[in-house]
Amino acid sequence: MDKAIVPDNVYDIVIIGGGPAGLTAGIYASRASLRTLLIEGASFVSQITVTDIIENYPGVPEGIGGFELIERFKKQAVQFGLEIASEDVVGIAKAHWGDTEGWRVTSAGRDYETLAVIVATGAHWRKLGVRGEDLFLGKGVSYCATCDGPIYKNRDVVVVGGGDAAVKEAIFLTRFASKVTIIHRRDRLRAVKVLEKRALANSKIAFAWNSVVEEISGGNVVEKVKIRDVKSLDTGREIPAQGVFIFIGLTPKTDMVRGIVDLDDGGHIIVDADMHTTTKGIFAAGDCIRKSLRQIITACGDGATAAASAQHYVEELKGESY
Ligand code: NAP
Repeated sequence: MDKAIVPDNVYDIVIIGGGPAGLTAGIYASRASLRTLLIEGASFVSQITVTDIIENYPGVPEGIGGFELIERFKKQAVQFGLEIASEDVVGIAKAHWGDTEGWRVTSAGRDYETLAVIVATGAHWRKLGVRGEDLFLGKGVSYCATCDGPIYKNRDVVVVGGGDAAVKEAIFLTRFASKVTIIHRRDRLRAVKVLEKRALANSKIAFAWNSVVEEISGGNVVEKVKIRDVKSLDTGREIPAQGVFIFIGLTPKTDMVRGIVDLDDGGHIIVDADMHTTTKGIFAAGDCIRKSLRQIITACGDGATAAASAQHYVEELKGESY
């Protein structure tokens, strides 16, 4: 294959997203001597950075804080030559240099040209969509127990949801709050057994089973949560609470690639086992893709696979494949 002529300022790979998937892709790509830029977002907050303690990351039996783990990923990636920019990406469009096709990634008024893109944008917390949720944001309503938990020392709080995040964060909140009520729409938790056992054994945690939030109300700050029993349809119960922590799942951050790659009904990027999207030159990894297990370790695995596939793609494009 003839060698493609591409200008010097064109990156081999631009990675969008600075969580575990993006940084692992960055470690692999830069270690493979590919010119790689990672764009992490101007006010970068990965889900992992607000996770108090990670107990299931292999090789770290004592557990590690999310922020520390991400700093260690970063240090390792930069060591291999990864460039990191903190800007919000606003769009991706096709680019070409002669016969060679690539991509233009636009962020904060700047364009970066690249042969391949790895989308590792992650997901953000889903909203409940009830009255008072937006009004009391920052005045009692929160999506981050690690950030806001200490404010609720000796106060009563509620946690909405029954998955790993809700139960893990409810347990964390018992360090500060006098009482944590988990409001869950079913009569059993979705969270893994080890978390379920800990929550059930914790005397500071109470449960409002088969219940959904109808309204969050108060004066200047949250004072109570009105719930509806989904079986009896009774809406008479109110739980006094100064904090409302909402963990009802995740929404992938994929708006920037809508119309460029195929997404499933939930907005997740559709990839094959090698993290190719349906569009040539764009790869994806981590919580923004369609998959069944969303954990740090699987995000890292996706990132490594995406980097290897992107490396293969770039080398073929440059006529350098071995
Ligand atoms: P999740 O597993 O999707 O659980 C969401 C929970 O919210 C479910 O219990 C669900 O109820 C409930 N829910 C959804 N929509 C609701 C609504 N509109 N009103 C009331 N309740 C609603 O989400 P997640 O807990 O955020 O976890 C996301 C992913 O991250 C998962 O793959 C999880 O394993 C992973 N994660 C892992 C850890 C860990 O420590 N290993 C920690 C955090 C997250 P139903 O049960 O009835 O569906």
